Amino acid sequence: MMLDSFKHKGLRKKLIEKLSSKGISDNNVLDAINKVPRHLFIDNAFIHFAYEDKAFPIGEGQTISQPYTVAFQTQLLDIKPYEKVLEIGTGSGYQAAVLSLLDADVFTIERQKKLYNKTKEFLPKIGYRCEFIFGDGYKGLPNFAPFDKIIVTCGAPKIPEELLTQLKVGGRMVVPIGDGKNQKMHLIKKKSSQDYDISTHGNFLFVPMLDDKNSL
Ligand code: SAH
Repeated sequence: MMLDSFKHKGLRKKLIEKLSSKGISDNNVLDAINKVPRHLFIDNAFIHFAYEDKAFPIGEGQTISQPYTVAFQTQLLDIKPYEKVLEIGTGSGYQAAVLSLLDADVFTIERQKKLYNKTKEFLPKIGYRCEFIFGDGYKGLPNFAPFDKIIVTCGAPKIPEELLTQLKVGGRMVVPIGDGKNQKMHLIKKKSSQDYDISTHGNFLFVPMLDDKNSL
């Protein structure tokens, strides 16, 4: 059993107040973030900052997203219980934990082997259930498609076409699109097999979504 304490609970409550003052209004999302012990997802060196609204290194040159970013993407996804959700970029597993607390059926893909191994062990240990897949997020998971919702937690240079085909009609994909320095959050609603509603929702900074040409 891992440690959560009154101190951590208090810090999380402050974080929730901050997120709501920044415009996160979905109470289900705020409640989920209020429950996940973010300090357990972070390198020991940064543990005292776990509940600040900041991104942190998680090893292998990757980062755990800022809580505001997690809240914002999750709010845009508008998760309903039992929905099948695909996440690209498992990383620390923090976003996946938040999604699973919203009663989503979570499939999460990571291309970095060490992170994949680490998070696949760690999340079940602290009580979260997801399907972990080692692979390339650009390809999605054709065998488990279609998905109600797809969330990309790395910056894609353009809309990953293959993922669109794996989205249900009526489903949503939330994906940051841009170059290495800046991405615009895109919300894509699938209206029919050919029609999409695309809107943008502000600037964010993610580590890049890498493809096969980049080394693992
Ligand atoms: N959701 C994570 C954020 C991790 S950062 C969290 O809550 O901690 C983004 C992650 O995307 C990194 O771990 C990186 O290795 C991964 N990634 C980058 N390109 C990818 C790809 N093509 N397929 C799968 N994962 C990818």
